[in-house]
Amino acid sequence: MAQTSMKVLKNYIGGKWIEANTDKSEPVYNPATGEVIAHVPISSQEDVDLAVEAANEAFQSWKEVAVPRRARILFKYQQLLVENWEELARLITIENGKNYTEAYGEVQRGIENVEFAAGAPSLMMGEQLPSIATDLESGVYRYPIGVIGGITPFNFPMMVPCWMFPMAIATGNTFVLKPSERTPLLANRLAELLEEAGLPNGVFNIVHGAHDVVNGLLDHKDVAAISFVGSQPVAEYVYKRGTANLKRVQALAGAKNHSIVLSDANLENAATQILNAAFGSAGERCMAASVVAVEDSIADEFLVRLKQKADEIKIGNGLDEGIFLGPVIRDQHKERTLNYIETGEKEGASLVRDGRKDEAVEEAGYFVGPTIFDHVTPDMKIWQDEIFAPVLSISRVRDLDEAIALSNQSRFANGACIFTRDGGSVRRFRETIDAGMLGVNIGVPAPMAFFPFSGWKDSFYGDLHANGKDGLNFYTRKKVITTKWV
Ligand code: NAD
Repeated sequence: MAQTSMKVLKNYIGGKWIEANTDKSEPVYNPATGEVIAHVPISSQEDVDLAVEAANEAFQSWKEVAVPRRARILFKYQQLLVENWEELARLITIENGKNYTEAYGEVQRGIENVEFAAGAPSLMMGEQLPSIATDLESGVYRYPIGVIGGITPFNFPMMVPCWMFPMAIATGNTFVLKPSERTPLLANRLAELLEEAGLPNGVFNIVHGAHDVVNGLLDHKDVAAISFVGSQPVAEYVYKRGTANLKRVQALAGAKNHSIVLSDANLENAATQILNAAFGSAGERCMAASVVAVEDSIADEFLVRLKQKADEIKIGNGLDEGIFLGPVIRDQHKERTLNYIETGEKEGASLVRDGRKDEAVEEAGYFVGPTIFDHVTPDMKIWQDEIFAPVLSISRVRDLDEAIALSNQSRFANGACIFTRDGGSVRRFRETIDAGMLGVNIGVPAPMAFFPFSGWKDSFYGDLHANGKDGLNFYTRKKVITTKWV
């Protein structure tokens, strides 16, 4: 049954599509057209209780299922995701707005996470030391932790849930997902395909909604851990409330990513990469380029190239051929972005390219054109805040040291990039920059599934990051057994 075509979406609990216990719902829009494409229920505490109960019951048997059998379901799931790749990508573009090529790439990122999790039999193996003393040995065994609550943002409706549930369920946990209420459709399709792959009822559940669902998961005694990805204030709140309830919590938060362009860089490459990183996915990426510190001597030339490329960007519905820049997620977000552009002007930055003047801004979709400010300084709000839209700030610097010192003033530290051909500068950057994910001559250094997704400072709260061995460790706990052979 195609849940995604229904007007008011249902929750997925214990293997059944169930109406939420609520009379509250919100419209879901196609941000490229402003049309309502579905309604999402704002579920209640009762819905959370039902889902956690189903997940907890399923956990009792799922944790006993042999790891290769659990992995085999993920192999089947991978196959189904590949078979439905185009449909999933279209759905992402329709509910999120990013262009189809980017959406297609997002599906690939999700699939890679499933592939990594399908390696659970090797990943879950323990370690032994046959002689810790005479006739004495020790070994470590790995186990799931229980019901996991996953809370996800609007900007990657496929990839971010896939950072969580494939590894969580492969390692024997059960899962309750609370997708973003702004992009809830894709999650239901992921659930349908999990069912088709043969996942037992209750192992994966969805409760749609907003704050009440999040609080319900954070406070529920049978939820063992919370994986959160979203904005900084909410990540901090989720981390504090979840840990106060003695849960394991990983909370990936907002960002303001800094790039550095040195005078010896391949400027053509730097401009292309930074353009994609700043304006791809309408700037709605936690790894988006937000501030670029450019060495004075090449700043004018770099800006000319950047502006030329920005002028060539085609704005519109991401399903249309050749469109690069789609809409931002909602009308309110467009308004917020336009206010930031105004603020930047008032703060004294020079507006090199004004995205308010692009024709598409007048259309029904929530479009903002590529916007570039020059001479941006750290006292300005446009330097400090995550705008999460196609707005890029340029700061001019004397040298690498000034650029690094500037970047390290930011409270955020998700990603940082350097553009140079000099090995010594790369090393200095690597050793002294505050950020968890670094790029050299690339604009979006988002790690693949087998590496941790590793923000620092106010871009992450917790210990174990998402993905890679961190993900495995987050979703498992260990027993160490010591045996004396007598
Ligand atoms: P958001 O914080 O508004 O929402 C994220 C989730 O939290 C949603 O499911 C939402 O329903 C819920 N939520 C929102 N407000 C809440 C509240 N007051 N109490 C409880 N729950 C609440 O984030 P968003 O706008 O959907 O996503 C964009 C943000 O996510 C950006 O800040 C971006 O940088 C960040 N993000 C970070 C990463 C990362 O890896 N660090 C990845 C993707 C997105």
